[in-house]
Amino acid sequence: MTIAIIAHNGKKAEMVQFLNENQEILHSKEIKLVATGTTGAKTEAAGFQVEKLLSGPMGGDAQIASRVAEGKIDMVLFFRDPLDKHPHEPDIFMLMRLCDVHNIPLATNPATATLLIKAI
Ligand code: PGA
Repeated sequence: MTIAIIAHNGKKAEMVQFLNENQEILHSKEIKLVATGTTGAKTEAAGFQVEKLLSGPMGGDAQIASRVAEGKIDMVLFFRDPLDKHPHEPDIFMLMRLCDVHNIPLATNPATATLLIKAI
């Protein structure tokens, strides 16, 4: 199962906390993590194996959206920061749209991500 993780800058600490709280399941099951660049670097620093794509503003969200469209991603955990502006907003909406087009579970906050992780 491939899980994509993305966290906006204001949410990266919460993403690392989420990964640590769920490390047993994330390490024990056959889970592959893929992430946007900076989120991926923080994920690696927390001790997880992760495929790092481009940073979000440079096209990382678009790369993940493309993989969703190709059927290569099973779940997206996207900790968005609704209190900040993002230059790559079109890519963010594209990713969320494609999750809905392809019926891929998408969590946009830690509470929903926790529920999804408990379900696998
Ligand atoms: P980042 O990208 O992990 O490279 O910071 C996330 C985003 O801003 O979408």
